[in-house]
Amino acid sequence: MPRMRLRVEKPATIIDINRVVGLDGISVDAGAVTVGALVRQQTLVTHDGVAAVHPLLREAGSYAGFHTTRHRGTVGGSIAFAAPWAELAATTTLLGATITVRSTKAQRTLAASDFFLGPNQTALAADELVTEVQFPPAPAGTGFGFHEASPRYRDYATAAAAASITIADGVCSSAAWVLLRAAPAPLSIDVASTLVGRVVDDAAIENVVQSLAGLDPPTDIEASGAHRRRLAVTLTRRALADAWANAQEAVA
Ligand SMILES: Cc1cc2nc3c(=O)[nH]c(=O)nc-3n(C[C@H](O)[C@H](O)[C@H](O)COP(=O)(O)OP(=O)(O)OC[C@H]3O[C@@H](n4cnc5c(N)ncnc54)[C@H](O)[C@@H]3O)c2cc1C
Repeated sequence: MPRMRLRVEKPATIIDINRVVGLDGISVDAGAVTVGALVRQQTLVTHDGVAAVHPLLREAGSYAGFHTTRHRGTVGGSIAFAAPWAELAATTTLLGATITVRSTKAQRTLAASDFFLGPNQTALAADELVTEVQFPPAPAGTGFGFHEASPRYRDYATAAAAASITIADGVCSSAAWVLLRAAPAPLSIDVASTLVGRVVDDAAIENVVQSLAGLDPPTDIEASGAHRRRLAVTLTRRALADAWANAQEAVA
């Protein structure tokens, strides 16, 4: 709809999928979360059961547009649209979600990391509909962090960083890190090799940040690549520090 308003899209036909039955449910089962494509983003963000197992969906999801747009915008629409600033694209990638898509002939399930190909580009075929998104359970002792920079409050992200850290025996036992707008699609960077087995203190975070030296984010009308790289460094520091603090709370 926003693209039609800007006259970027002039479709000959519009199909309203709002009344397709069975696509508007959320289930939380043993830590796994399944979200139907027609679930409104605001419903996902305010769902206490979802927030209890994946607080990142509330935290990052609340950056997706505004209260008003989240009441109409769907989870499936955000994922299928794959805007470069889509917080749900970053969070599905970070959380290792899978996305189920269907055509009249077949159904398939793709890892989020294989689904997003670039700005408004996905692995979705022209005759496929996103039907649901599945988030696997997070291991016990996991904490999350999400930070975003935008020109105005809750505006489209210029850059964002999402991180998760799991603590076992007082040290990091697994970690994940995704940057938004640092590359054409959500960029998943290996952070486990730097952090696993360590206490994630300032020195450990600086080791991670050093790996951003070669980052080459896109330059566009909103920001230069150099500015985005600086933002990625700052947002990564904050996201990792929050993820570690939240993981410590989870094991306390
Ligand atoms: C002012 C404003 C600010 C916004 N800010 C943000 C932001 O900060 N972050 C953010 O992530 N988004 C933001 N958005 C985007 C918006 O909130 C929606 O998430 C997005 O447009 C999807 O909305 P929708 O579900 O109505 O899908 P539509 O807009 O109806 O559809 C989007 C595209 O996806 C396709 N599509 C929709 N559902 C499916 C499906 N189930 N399967 C296959 N294809 C499908 C449609 O055909 C269309 O091509 C903003 C929007 C506005 C208007």
